[in-house]
This record gives sequence, structure tokens and C-alpha cells, in this order.
Amino acid sequence: MHQIQTVALAHTPFAEKFAIPRQPMLAPAAVGIIELQPPFDDPLALQGLEQVSHIWLSFLFHEALPDPAAPPRLRVRPPRLGGNDKLGVFATRSSHRPNGIGQSLVKVLAVEGTRIHVAGVDLLDQTPIIDIKPYVPYADCLPEASNGIAQQAPAQVTVDWQPEVLAGAQAVEQSHRPGLVELINQCLAQDPKPAYQTPPPERMYGTRFWDVEVKWHYPAAGQIVVTGVAQAAPGE
Ligand code: SAM
Repeated sequence: MHQIQTVALAHTPFAEKFAIPRQPMLAPAAVGIIELQPPFDDPLALQGLEQVSHIWLSFLFHEALPDPAAPPRLRVRPPRLGGNDKLGVFATRSSHRPNGIGQSLVKVLAVEGTRIHVAGVDLLDQTPIIDIKPYVPYADCLPEASNGIAQQAPAQVTVDWQPEVLAGAQAVEQSHRPGLVELINQCLAQDPKPAYQTPPPERMYGTRFWDVEVKWHYPAAGQIVVTGVAQAAPGE
């Protein structure tokens, strides 16, 4: 039996799964750090990577690993199909899959010692990375490729802010969370709620980016208004 080791850990803004973009590069403001872990934590392991614009990250969906005692899940409900229709697991990029392995293509911003600064991540904070590979344009970019289920990025929703909430978010951004407003705009524009839900305007949704609690609602279909941005209490 071959054992797989964690080669790096992802440090990302995403403290919770909800509102993480469903694929990489949908939120360019989602920046993170991929930090090599022992025994791979030597800058030599990244030598040459400064010549590469994008990398493939292979990782473990560590917060959605399958129960080895349960029967394998052969079909899943992709959010793109509204959450009601099923597809074969191998026809999707669902996080619920045998072996719990994911792959994401992200932009390299900088290589610094044993850390790679990246943009466009769709990974939960602390996700174990099990391999890192350079994007190879001549092999990985296929203009003729098609996918009848997911050819285009999903339509975005409009994101508006209550003015005092935006002012509060800008203050947090200036004090210690650069890029916070853009990150919230880009992630919420992906419409985090399941596509089959049409929530009443009074229903509130929320998630956490780093230690910042974000709340929003849907006053009308296809429209989000951000109603709260607050520092989580220590220990939460
Ligand atoms: N790009 C990857 C792929 O195709 O394998 C991931 C696609 S998957 C649909 C993306 C979702 O996985 C995110 O929106 C988030 O909800 C979830 N996710 C991200 N990191 C995770 C982790 N470490 N454990 C469990 N779920 C995670």
C-alpha cells in the first residue's frame, strides 16, 4: 500500500466552506499562501517555480472525506444543476468523491522561501496539499475542449452593500485585511446559496472570511445585499 503525505498546507481566507467559490480563478481576490511542510520544507523544492505563472494544486477535501465503511457514493448532486439532479461522481468536480482528492489551478503571485503566494484559490483554510505541479500551456490549454454540463462560468448575482456596512468593511480592510471588500464582492457574486433555494428577503445568510463574519440577504432574486461585516469575538 502506498501512503500519501501532505507536502504543503494552504493558508486561505476561507474559515468556512460556505461561500468559497465553486472553482478556482472565479474570485481573483481570493489570495492565499501554500506553505511547504516537513520533510519538503526546503526552498530547493520550489527552485524554478518563479518562471511559472500558474500551478495545479492536488489536495485533500479534508473536511469532506468519505466514510470508508459506507458504500461508495457513485452519483452526486452538483450545485450547477440546481441541487436536485444527479450525475455520476466522475462526471463532476464534487468534493464528495472516492479518495477525497481535489485539484485547482491557481495563479502564482510570488515564490518566497518555502511559501508560494497564490491568487484565485477555492480551498478551505488549512487544506492539506498533496502535490504541486506547474501549468504547462501547450498541454493543459485546449481551445477545442468542451463540457456540456459546465462550459461557461455560472451567471453572477449583483452584490450591493448597506452604506454603513461598506464603511465598516473598508475600515477593517485598512486596518488589517487588505482586499476584504473585493473578496466579499467576488465570492458573493458567485451566489453561494444552493441554486434551488429562493429565500424570502428576511432570511439571512452568513460565513466567515478569516476572523470576519459576513452577513447578507436576497431582497430579490439575483440580488444580494451585504448587511453585516464584523470581527468575530476571540476564540470563535
Ligand atoms: N477545484 C477543485 C476541484 O475541481 O477538485 C474543487 C472543486 S469543489 C466543487 C470546491 C468546493 O469544495 C468549495 O466551494 C468548498 O465548498 C469545498 N472545499 C474546499 N476546500 C475544501 C476542503 N479542504 N474540504 C472540504 N471541502 C472543501
